Amino acid sequence: MKILVANLGSTSFKYRLFDMTTETMLARGGVERIGSPSSRCFVEAGGQCEEATIEARDHAVAVRLCLQQLSDPKRGCLSDPSELAAIGFKAVHAQGVSGAQRVDERVLSAMEAYADVAPAHNPPYIRVMRLLAKELSQIPLVAAFETGFHQTIPDAERYYAVPREWVEKHGILKYGFHGASHRFIAERTARLLNKPEAKIISCHLGGSSSLCAVASGTSRACSLGMSPQSGLPHNNRVGDFDVFALPALMRATGKTVEQVLDDLANRSGMLGLSGYNDIRDIQKAAASGEENARLALDVFVASIRHYLGAYLLLLNGADAIVFTGGIGENSTHIREAICADLDWFGIDLDRRKNNEAKGEAAIHSANSRVQLWIMPTNEEIIVARQAKDLLSGGR
Ligand code: ADP
Repeated sequence: MKILVANLGSTSFKYRLFDMTTETMLARGGVERIGSPSSRCFVEAGGQCEEATIEARDHAVAVRLCLQQLSDPKRGCLSDPSELAAIGFKAVHAQGVSGAQRVDERVLSAMEAYADVAPAHNPPYIRVMRLLAKELSQIPLVAAFETGFHQTIPDAERYYAVPREWVEKHGILKYGFHGASHRFIAERTARLLNKPEAKIISCHLGGSSSLCAVASGTSRACSLGMSPQSGLPHNNRVGDFDVFALPALMRATGKTVEQVLDDLANRSGMLGLSGYNDIRDIQKAAASGEENARLALDVFVASIRHYLGAYLLLLNGADAIVFTGGIGENSTHIREAICADLDWFGIDLDRRKNNEAKGEAAIHSANSRVQLWIMPTNEEIIVARQAKDLLSGGR
């Protein structure tokens, strides 16, 4: 049973192909910088990796190209796209819809209704889902929504303090995102600790970042709220923000609410503070004395520690804090700054282990009551499992 899992960004399309009988990854690849004249296309299968520069005008070109690559006899991944049992999507947000769902008009309309709540994510997903539903109409498409894992969050952590009818009539709630990643981290960590009831704080730090409090394998709180623009500062999205700054900003700049929201969703976050989108560039600039870059790193770390503190209280301590995502897995500096001076909480990072760790590794000292780990996430296998379960009539 072969399942292709698609992960779309506003300018990227990444995929993994699994044989779900054995949960083996057969291939992975994708296209980056979609829309530019020099998109980067890569495919890795059977131990071979190929890269090329192509012109992928839009996501449709990228998806067709990937299906062609996977069906190329020299790779032996698929005899034909029709061999796919399903295509799973790491989908983000839809009005009134969550969990794993067959993609149909109801689901697409629910995603369209939230295109402005998740502007970087929903529009490309909707376009690609519609394209595939037309071109590969015999293959089931499954959307596994990021919000699904967070349906166990209790009301105290889900509600904003707004009129009740906003919740009941309009669904204005903290939904939480990065569900596939936090679920993977929760399951893997509980297995490593051999403790199904483990209290875990999962820190997914990447282009988008969030913290999630997990107890007994279920989500109890997530720093992302109604939209993927909330919580921690992201690469170019704002994170938590006081909405009453909006009228002051609109008056001062003459911008419309749409223009200000566009600034908050595309030119804020780490980019807004430092002028750089990528943590590696920000770290380099901070090291060479750029004050704005230093400030951006300080704001990022302070925001992570804010949620870490809240979740240590919420869970009454933790068995493990786990770092994942491009920043969580790779930035020794950010991990060290997050864990600094937390000995009162029983959190003690081993600097040597932190500096040397690669892949899945423990980075706490022998004295640390709380285990600290770095762990590559695998959102795609979670989506593939959800698609398989849905198609076989399971959960
Ligand atoms: P996304 O949320 O888009 O999936 P990723 O999890 O791939 O993002 O993370 C992207 C981020 O990871 C970028 O900000 C990048 O700077 C950061 N990153 C990647 N490699 C490193 C590294 N070696 N050191 C520090 N940051 C890194």
